[in-house]
Amino acid sequence: MTKHTITPPAAPILGEAYVCDCGEELPNRMSAEVHAAETGQCSVCLGSAEEQVAPGFAPGLTRGCTSCAATGRRREQVVWQLAYAEAEQLITMSVVRDVVAGFDGPFHLSEVADVVRSGLGVQAGRLPVGPRVRDLLLRLQAAGEITMLSAPDELLAGTDVVLYRDPQWQRARTLGT
Ligand SMILES: [Zn+2]
Ligand SMILES: [Zn+2]
Repeated sequence: MTKHTITPPAAPILGEAYVCDCGEELPNRMSAEVHAAETGQCSVCLGSAEEQVAPGFAPGLTRGCTSCAATGRRREQVVWQLAYAEAEQLITMSVVRDVVAGFDGPFHLSEVADVVRSGLGVQAGRLPVGPRVRDLLLRLQAAGEITMLSAPDELLAGTDVVLYRDPQWQRARTLGT
């Protein structure tokens, strides 16, 4: 079996070429993604199973690829895409709003995700509940319904890029009461 480990350009400034262990030259990101998909690898992480948390700011800071559940494989990527679409259908804004209404004090992202997960009766790891709940909580925050209490866990590039691991919010109207 030929290995298809795709190596991204070491210094993007010198050119965009990716190379694959099979000898194929991939002149740009697009062709690298196509080759990854053809060889059964995740088209986002190109099979490395890792993604950069803040590309361009902290190249060394990586986490498991969120597109393929950190497997590096195309099959898992497709399964995960379908699971995300399913999570979007199941976990609506009103589901999250109801859960948030049950918290009098501050709550963490993980706590809301746990309530939603047990409410739906899904096993941990079967649906991307956390990422979906996070998106919806950020929308509630943008609408002013909840306020983020956490300070970022990490600041990259000053305050332009910040990372939160398990942020904490509070309902806006319960603040100060
Ligand atoms: Zn190859
Ligand atoms: Zn991936």
